[in-house]
Amino acid sequence: MSNRTFTMVKPDATSKGYTGAILQQITDAGFTIKAMKWIHLSEKQAGAFYAVHKERPFYGELVAFMSSGPIVAAILEKENAVADFRTLIGATNPAQAAEGTIRKKFASSIGENAVHGSDSDENAAIEGSFFFSGLEIF
Ligand code: ADP
Ligand code: MG
Repeated sequence: MSNRTFTMVKPDATSKGYTGAILQQITDAGFTIKAMKWIHLSEKQAGAFYAVHKERPFYGELVAFMSSGPIVAAILEKENAVADFRTLIGATNPAQAAEGTIRKKFASSIGENAVHGSDSDENAAIEGSFFFSGLEIF
């Protein structure tokens, strides 16, 4: 069981003014913010973050989207963080996401789906250290 995960509020959600409401839902669900930054990724940086998806057909679209505007990146803490956060955000495709989940409420499509959530403890650690140094985690 992990106690940390990594998230991003994606460019679709930041541009629509959903950042505050999404962060509120995250903290209301019991997650504590350990690190946070507002950042606009370059294409190269977004491509590196999503390198694991390089062979998938949507990779180019995903990299263009994730570098299209600012995001909020954060490390979150809670008991069972990875699994509980995936439950909170809902399915990748908002059309299939459960009622009340962040993607159901704020996402518009399978690509522009409002938030990222790590899929394992190992990836949570890798993704968190992509954005944050030890000096930025509290
Ligand atoms: P998740 O974010 O739920 O873990 P994946 O890891 O499978 O989903 O995919 C990473 C991201 O790539 C998704 O959140 C979404 O932004 C994008 N994506 C996934 N599948 C598609 C698709 N079929 N078409 C366009 N974009 C997609
Ligand atoms: Mg994923």
